[in-house]
Amino acid sequence: MYRVARNVFLGRGTAVNFVVLREGRDLTLIDAGYPADASAVVAGIEQIGHRWEDVRAVLVTHAHVDHVGGLPALLGRGEVPVFAHSRELPNVHGSAHEQASVGDVVRHSWKPRGARWLAAIAMAGGAQHVSLPSAEPFPQEGRLDLPGGPIPVLSGGHTSGHTGFLLPDVGMLASGDALVTGHPLTRQTGPQLLPSFFAHDPAAAVEGLSYLQHLSADTLLPGHGELWTGDLAQAVERVRAGASLPPRRT
Ligand SMILES: [Zn+2]
Repeated sequence: MYRVARNVFLGRGTAVNFVVLREGRDLTLIDAGYPADASAVVAGIEQIGHRWEDVRAVLVTHAHVDHVGGLPALLGRGEVPVFAHSRELPNVHGSAHEQASVGDVVRHSWKPRGARWLAAIAMAGGAQHVSLPSAEPFPQEGRLDLPGGPIPVLSGGHTSGHTGFLLPDVGMLASGDALVTGHPLTRQTGPQLLPSFFAHDPAAAVEGLSYLQHLSADTLLPGHGELWTGDLAQAVERVRAGASLPPRRT
């Protein structure tokens, strides 16, 4: 796990990231990788001198298996409240499933690099449907009273209730999959959208960038790809300008 600020850490699962915020002995975990990444989350927490029991809450950017898959095993180690945006809760609870199908993913991953990625995510439990019936809506508006004081920023499109987390004390944005900086399916690095077939509503995913554009943050901790530092407003503008959308499905 990489220390990206005094009390902010970026961890890596199977080509997916998670974030740990620290305040004293207490931690907040943002996302938790694929089912097989639970051990990487625990290892990351131990690497910084903590234990799973120090986690006060888990925040979910969205309910895709690469972000919540590790949680059932982690919560088996000790119950921790799990929070997501109220618009995302149907996905988190399992009553909705706004995720690209296995067929979609395979169809878009025919290149050699895609095949390697597919094999890796299959091993990591990528075909599982993970639901978390105990997840709750955020306990308050604005800054959450949790270690690190993250502020949820609804940025729907990838899923209806996808949420990034602004870390105002350090000027960082845990952007989840609303804005990433790389993915095994593309050679491109730097701020970008995921391939549009991953998004529940690709047009809304582009529109949703407007919620991120003017945040006071100059560092992205994305759901996929490397940490990125720069002018967020300009980066978002470039991504929006370059976004090409497939025709809307009817
Ligand atoms: Zn993802």
